[in-house]
Amino acid sequence: MFVCTACGRKFSLEEHHQRCPICNEPLQLENMKGKRRDGNVWERYRDFYSIPLSMDYSLGEGDTPIIRVDMYGNEFYLKNETLNPTWSFKDRGTFVAINRAIQMGFDRIGVVSTGNMAASVAAYGAHAGLDTIVLVSENILNEKISQLLPYGAKILKVKGDYGELYFKSLKIGKTRKIYFMNSDDPFRIEGYKTIAYELAEKVDVDYVFVPTSSGGLFRGVYKGFLELKESGTIDKIPEMVAVQAKGCSPICSAYPSGKIGRFKNASTIAHAIENPYPPSGNAVLRILKKNGWKCIAVEEDEIIKAQEELAYKGIFVQPASATTLAVLKKLNLKNSRIALILTGSGLKTKSIEYSKTIPLCDIEELEDCEVFK
Ligand SMILES: [Zn+2]
Repeated sequence: MFVCTACGRKFSLEEHHQRCPICNEPLQLENMKGKRRDGNVWERYRDFYSIPLSMDYSLGEGDTPIIRVDMYGNEFYLKNETLNPTWSFKDRGTFVAINRAIQMGFDRIGVVSTGNMAASVAAYGAHAGLDTIVLVSENILNEKISQLLPYGAKILKVKGDYGELYFKSLKIGKTRKIYFMNSDDPFRIEGYKTIAYELAEKVDVDYVFVPTSSGGLFRGVYKGFLELKESGTIDKIPEMVAVQAKGCSPICSAYPSGKIGRFKNASTIAHAIENPYPPSGNAVLRILKKNGWKCIAVEEDEIIKAQEELAYKGIFVQPASATTLAVLKKLNLKNSRIALILTGSGLKTKSIEYSKTIPLCDIEELEDCEVFK
């Protein structure tokens, strides 16, 4: 069954719903219980899926490494999602949504995205042999388009409000029978919950910092922990912190009122979390308030600095992922175990412009070069 995250009404999985037909808030699948088995992450947690998942549609997503680093008096566990097939966590959600698409007889799928998710849906659509339509905003950067083109999806630039495009696409999807597997689609959430499963298997953390845009990832990771707790696998859910960039922080800004509004003049280097009107914003606020958790926004210079610090630990992430480390300075934690969800690769976005110049040396004088001294 689908369950509405706001009004709690239930709807049959036989019909293809994406948002609540009554209150228009996000739907999710009922929580499942089970025990851990063998195999890859989808097989180990097969009890937790109310739809069958065929590995025919997998590109090898999930089961990403967790790297431990010690910084600022804390133990960090870096969940390296940059190692997914299209270099971001989105692949987990796309895999589940593609399974749903096939089961429901869709031969066309689509997505509204500015980057990570577009590449993911284009790749998985190609692999499954589905016609794939990607709607992007008019001012999308060429470097993002170049990650999409190889997969052969139909790409359309749309002029107008990007937040509205999400809702318009769902409407068109209904009339034209195209499954728009957008950011907080209920089946995407099912994919993202595997991040919580994988974390809980390996580490016992006090906090999980989650870069938060549409709210889909945050909801997914929370659902994963909740299901493990309800199954008796873990005793407590780590405190989850929703992290945003100050330049686009509609969820943090709405915390006092509890109701999402459109964030005006959004602008941040963390493009992957630049959604001024997050479709799951209210759903995330409900989770934060229920648990007494925080939403924290970080400055641009803090993001850039954190991106560099993570790279110096050997992991090059996109700015959106670096927000998770940047937020630490606002919390002033010591002796804590903290999981950072590093959502996507730094190669996906324009590289940081380092001011350092690289020295040049003649091969004949190599031994005398500064670098060896
Ligand atoms: Zn509802």
